[in-house]
Amino acid sequence: MNIILMGPPGAGKGTQAVLIVEETGVPHVSTGDMFREAVANGTPMGMEAKKYMDAGQLVPDEVTIGIVAERLAQADCARGFLLDGFPRTQRQAEALDRILHDLGRKVDLVLNIEVPTEVLVQRMTGRITCPNCKSVYHLVFQPPQQQGVCDRCGHALQQRSDDTAVETVRKRLEVYEAETSPLVDYYGRQGVLVTIDGQQGRDQVFSAIKAALGRNA
Ligand code: ADP
Ligand code: AMP
Repeated sequence: MNIILMGPPGAGKGTQAVLIVEETGVPHVSTGDMFREAVANGTPMGMEAKKYMDAGQLVPDEVTIGIVAERLAQADCARGFLLDGFPRTQRQAEALDRILHDLGRKVDLVLNIEVPTEVLVQRMTGRITCPNCKSVYHLVFQPPQQQGVCDRCGHALQQRSDDTAVETVRKRLEVYEAETSPLVDYYGRQGVLVTIDGQQGRDQVFSAIKAALGRNA
């Protein structure tokens, strides 16, 4: 199944992605994770991407579309994928349609997780993540059992550099409204959109997602 996880930053896409991958076995393709890995490895692309990420802006389309095209052509994506954080612009959505068309594939399902803006700010500023297994926690809403340590793999948890300043967080929400939210209609017109109430607890959100995937909740 070819799935897109949509929703504003902080909606819970990464949190749900870990559960969806466990449930379905499809690979998690997160452009944010790919850029963070490139930053951590100090590659030229990572150094370029970091300037945009730290300013709460989008990395230019040509860079982003290029890395996704390469990733989706890899063997492990042949039986499906879970795209998270892509597409984020009309140009990216149209490019994705072309990439999938060339591979003889299409988007099967778009899960749009909805959460009000003020909740998103609280979620992002309290987010801590595991750079190793990509598990996501929150200092208040979803704390790990042992402070600063990942429950799943034992690695040290980190705060993302783009989550520390409220201005950067707000900028990302503005960019989402302007550039990404129109894609909800784009996929609505394609008849593949399912809206999920992301204000519920993590497990209830996952139950709604499982229902959309046609699996028993
Ligand atoms: P996204 O990938 O959409 O940016 P994340 O999955 O990283 O969002 O979640 C953002 C923050 O919100 C994290 O700190 C996470 O622990 C927390 N969070 C995710 N889902 C929920 C939920 N259903 N209820 C409360 N907090 C949540
Ligand atoms: P995320 O992990 O999805 O919140 O993404 C973190 C940051 O990476 C974003 O704020 C952007 O700077 C960059 N990024 C991730 N995905 C994209 C994308 N599809 N297009 C442009 N920039 C992206």
